[in-house]
Parts: sequence; C-alpha cells; structure tokens
Amino acid sequence: MKIWKNTGMQKTIIRSIVCLMILCLLSSFAVSEDVSVEVFYRDGIISLKYMTVESARNAAESFTAAGSYEQAPEYRQYALSLIDILSMDEKDVNLKSMTTRLQFAGENEEFRKSLAENRLPSCESLVQYIQARQHEEAGEYIAALNIYKNIRGLLDSMDRRINLSDMAYQQAEELYRNGDYQAAAEIFQNLDYADSAEKYQQVLASHEHQWIEATCTEPRTCAVLGETEGEPLGHDWAEATCTEPKTCRRCGATEGEPAHDWQAASCTEPRICSRCGAAEGEPLGHDWQEAACTEPKICTRCGATDGEPLGHNWQEATCTEPKTCARCGVTEGEPLGHSWLEATYASPQRCARCGATAGSPLSVQIGSFVSFGRYEQDNNLNNGPEAVEWMVLDFDSANHKVLLLSRYGLDAKPYNTEYGDITWANCTLRTWLNGDFISNAFSAEERAAILVTEVDCSAAQGYGRWNTSGGSNTQDQIFLLSFGEANRYLGVKYTDDDDGSNIRSRITPTNYTLKAGAWTSKINHTADGKPS
Ligand SMILES: [Zn+2]
Ligand SMILES: [Zn+2]
Ligand SMILES: [Zn+2]
Ligand SMILES: [Zn+2]
Ligand SMILES: [Zn+2]
Ligand SMILES: [Zn+2]
Repeated sequence: MKIWKNTGMQKTIIRSIVCLMILCLLSSFAVSEDVSVEVFYRDGIISLKYMTVESARNAAESFTAAGSYEQAPEYRQYALSLIDILSMDEKDVNLKSMTTRLQFAGENEEFRKSLAENRLPSCESLVQYIQARQHEEAGEYIAALNIYKNIRGLLDSMDRRINLSDMAYQQAEELYRNGDYQAAAEIFQNLDYADSAEKYQQVLASHEHQWIEATCTEPRTCAVLGETEGEPLGHDWAEATCTEPKTCRRCGATEGEPAHDWQAASCTEPRICSRCGAAEGEPLGHDWQEAACTEPKICTRCGATDGEPLGHNWQEATCTEPKTCARCGVTEGEPLGHSWLEATYASPQRCARCGATAGSPLSVQIGSFVSFGRYEQDNNLNNGPEAVEWMVLDFDSANHKVLLLSRYGLDAKPYNTEYGDITWANCTLRTWLNGDFISNAFSAEERAAILVTEVDCSAAQGYGRWNTSGGSNTQDQIFLLSFGEANRYLGVKYTDDDDGSNIRSRITPTNYTLKAGAWTSKINHTADGKPS
C-alpha cells in the first residue's frame, strides 16, 4: 500500500503490527516488564500471588490499553479475586472473576496444585459458595442458607447465614402479610430461627384449605400448604387377565405382567390357558410302560393303551411244578405228579418223566422164593413148561446180586456121561447146565440177567478129609454148590453120623425129574417134609 488514509482500517493494521511484535517477543523470550506480566496471566497464574492488587490492575490495564487482548478485563478479575482469597479479604471476593478462575482451574493442573498447597477451599466448595451467592442475589434466601450450612466456615458463609436468616424472616413476614401463605409457610418451615416454628403454625392456622381429594397413592392434600389428612385410598385392583396386568380401576396403575391361567400339559395336549384357550409348548407324549402278559402297553400318566396284552408265555407243567408263565410267573392247574416206575432190586422207585427217585431198591429176603425162567416140571408136555422156583441163598444189595438155588430137582443127569476121573471144569453136567438147560429154561432177556460167576474149585471147597483135586476154577452162569458153599449157605456139615445137618440141602424132584430117572428116599425128607 502506498497511500495511508485516516480510516478504521489504518487502526486495525497498526494493532496487527503491535500484535505481531508481541508474538515475536514471546517467541524470543526477550520480554519487557509489562509483557512478562501478561505471559504469567496466560500460562502461570500461580505467580500472581506475589503481585499486589495495584500491579495486577496495572498489568491488565496496560494490555487493555494496548488493545491486543479482548479478555484482558477477565484476566484482571482473576487476579483480583485470587488476591482477595489469598489475603482473606473475603468480603471483596468477586464472584464473576472467581467463576472464571474456577473454569481456569478446571483446565490447569498447576493452578489446582497451587490451590491445594495454599490450603485454599476446594474447587467444589467454591462452586457451592458461588451458587449460594447467586441464590442470595435472586432473593432465594432459604436455598442460599441451606448451602451455607453445608460449607460452614468457607469464606464469609457464617456472616452471610446470620444476615440471610434475618432477611428471610422479614421476607416471610411480608409474604404472610400479603396473604402468600404458601411461600411464607415454606420459609418459616425451613428457617432455623427463634420463633419460626410458631410462625409456621400461625400460617397453617390462618390459611383457608383447598383440599385435593385423596387418590390411590396420596392422602387428601391441601393445595395451599401441602398438608395432608387421612390415608391414600389404595388401589382398587382388578385381577390380571391373559392380556392385561393387574390394573387399578380408579387410576389405571398396573402391577406385574399379564398372565395366562395355564393348565399343565398332558400326554396329548400342550399347556392350555383355561381362560382364553391359548396353547403353548408341546404335548408331553405318553410315558409308555411296556405291555405285560395281561396288560397292553399303557401310559403311566394318562392310562392310554396301545396294542394287546402279550399273553402268557406258558412253560408246560412238570412233575413238581404247575403250568407256569415264564414272564410273569402265574400258574395254572396242578403239577403233573411223578409217574413212578416200580422199584427194582437194582433201583428204587423212579419217575419215568423226570428221573426223580424215592425210597430204596427192592430188597430180597434170604430164604424166600422167587420165580425165574420156565422148565418142564409136571411132565404134562401139553401145557408147556412151568415157572421155576428158586430159593434166595444170598443177596448182595450193594451190587444188586442174588445167588439162587432151585427149589426142586429139575432134571436128572449124570455128572459125566462117561465113567472116569474128571473135574467140574470138564464134566458133561457143566456143559449141559450152561448149554441146553440155560437155553431151554430162560429167555434171552433172562439169560442176560444171569451173571457169570468165578467158580472156586480149590480144595477148600471140598470135604476136608478127602484128598481129591477140584480141578481148575471155572466161569459159569449155572453151577452146582460146592461143599464149602452148602456149608456156608445151608449149614451142611461133614460128619460120619447122619445128624440131619444136610436136610436143607435136600430137594424134591419134579414129576418130570422122576420120569427122567431120579430116585427118592422114603426116609430122608426135605426141609418141607417131602421125599427127597
Ligand atoms: Zn391447607
Ligand atoms: Zn389406583
Ligand atoms: Zn389365557
Ligand atoms: Zn399318556
Ligand atoms: Zn404271564
Ligand atoms: Zn417225575
């Protein structure tokens, strides 16, 4: 620009130049006295405590005069208020500057530290103090008093409380006079003053109630002063429905949630609301218990059935058990009982079905007679052979063996068909007995029952006085008694005199035997008294 004109623009340019100059100075730290004060204002207000009110004012004014800082008046106020607080010149505390200072403290850590070091009131207390002062200015004495009570001892709060109490009392009196009972009562009620309680009662007594009728939750209440009478009405509840919660018929207040009246789910139905029929979830399904012999598959919950009973799984009756169901154990009828086969000499009574036995095998009495085999005896060949009777000589119950001796003389045969020295082993009688005789007299089955005996032919079996060899031992089914055996079984003795000891060894021949040439003695009878 070449031409300078005397305009506002010129002033702005000049200020800008000053501004630039200051900035240059700041950056180079080559500060003049005035400028350095301003720097403290901006970044290190802590240092202000060493300033006098005068110097702070000067500092601010010099900047204002320079016209470079719009906030200069505020900085001045910071300075003044801080100096006021530090010097405890409480009455002069400037609220606006203090508020600004607190904002500054909020942003400046160094400044907050400085407050603490100097045991100054906390920022929170100062904020309250400022609020109280603002209430005071607005004529809200009770609100201000309540704050001063809480920040007792801060700055001039005590003096202010005393002063404010007086002012509030006077304010209430005036309100009362003017008929503003509500405002007056409120002040008297909250004022800690000598007769404020009496005054409150006075206000109560002199006002005209404007009753607001009781509601569900509030008692009858005076609109003027808010005093109450009686109790709230309480809600007039209508029970919850499926879709609406419990609701007050009077005021519409609700409680809880809507609820269906659920009936528990069953096997086949989900849970159902008895009121509105709504359904929820799934049926439980049957809880089946498997079918049994007489019951079909059945639901333990509802008793529903499926299919047929299984029927019994019969096990046939046995000798000792009736017909029985293998599954459930029920029985039908009686046990069959054993099907006994007669006892034999070899085995006791025995069940043909189950093999159970009872009792003992038959026993045989020695000396008794049994029938076994058939042989011609009456010599009447037309009527066939007759049953052969045998006497039991010996009975071995352990081995089921009997030794039998024919009761009658069944045939007449020579010991040997040719005369000469011959032992039992080789005689024709032995051959005949175990050949023709055994074949004729016994069936094949009977022959099978006749045991083979080891026949002892030693000298011990013979007469002791005779010195005759008995020959070799033999194995025979049928044989003759030796002397030793006759002695043992029949009591026959060897003696020169006929003492009758051999009577039991005598036998009577049959007619057939007589015919075959047997001879009988008329003197020597058998034990039965018959001719032998
Ligand atoms: Zn009232
Ligand atoms: Zn209600
Ligand atoms: Zn329902
Ligand atoms: Zn069921
Ligand atoms: Zn069964
Ligand atoms: Zn049986």
